[in-house]
Amino acid sequence: MSMKISLYYRARELSFVSNAENILRKKLVYVARKAYEHRLMIGTWGNLSVRMNKNKILITPSGFEKDLLKPSDLLIADLDGQIIKGKWRPSIEMPMHTYIYRRREDVNAIIHTHSHYAMIFAVKGEVIPPLTIEFASVVGHSIPVTRYVRAGTMEAAEEVVNVLDKGKAILIKNHGVVAVGESIEEAYHVALLVEEEARIYFFLKLLSESIEKLDDKEVGMLHEFYIHSYGQKGKKILLKS
Ligand code: 13P
Ligand code: ZN
Repeated sequence: MSMKISLYYRARELSFVSNAENILRKKLVYVARKAYEHRLMIGTWGNLSVRMNKNKILITPSGFEKDLLKPSDLLIADLDGQIIKGKWRPSIEMPMHTYIYRRREDVNAIIHTHSHYAMIFAVKGEVIPPLTIEFASVVGHSIPVTRYVRAGTMEAAEEVVNVLDKGKAILIKNHGVVAVGESIEEAYHVALLVEEEARIYFFLKLLSESIEKLDDKEVGMLHEFYIHSYGQKGKKILLKS
């Protein structure tokens, strides 16, 4: 291959990489804004990341209100938390994000929120059970709570990974929610439904002493149906691409 042609293919390859990166950057910012508008993230609290490939992630910078983020504000880091690209300091929760990606190969996106009703149960240290069909379908398990761990530490990262196990979401004691997914759409949907379920659980507790939870078998059936059959041949249309 002549030098000119090989340079042409190299340029095309590079422009393809940066185009894929740009799409991911725009998507993450779009979800961050949406999460902010739905009050899943209050003030500068909460953070988001997506896996770019096996060893690289895109993550939000520290201390930004999420509706102010621009695609160029996001940082690229490796799974040891080393910054590859970006001008800002990364989220203080980098150890938690990278440790989840290291331990869960099925996870491609993480959203950490400080949403209001979920926070009530995070402070109380109370598990949120499956009560509604939408929560059972999307999440498929009750939401456990970690012990208290200081934000941004490796100890917190390890506790989150242990309690999360193979699940989709957990509460961090006195802190907030961690939701994960195969895609940013899924992680966002999980974070949204954890907050909705917490809200429903909170009001049910005011209304009645005996709350009927969905039984485990039914939760399993609903979750399986949702994964394989619900929506457009199993595909769900959630966020604009
Ligand atoms: P960052 O702004 O550094 O992401 O921190 C917010 C947060 O929620 C810490 O747990
Ligand atoms: Zn937090």
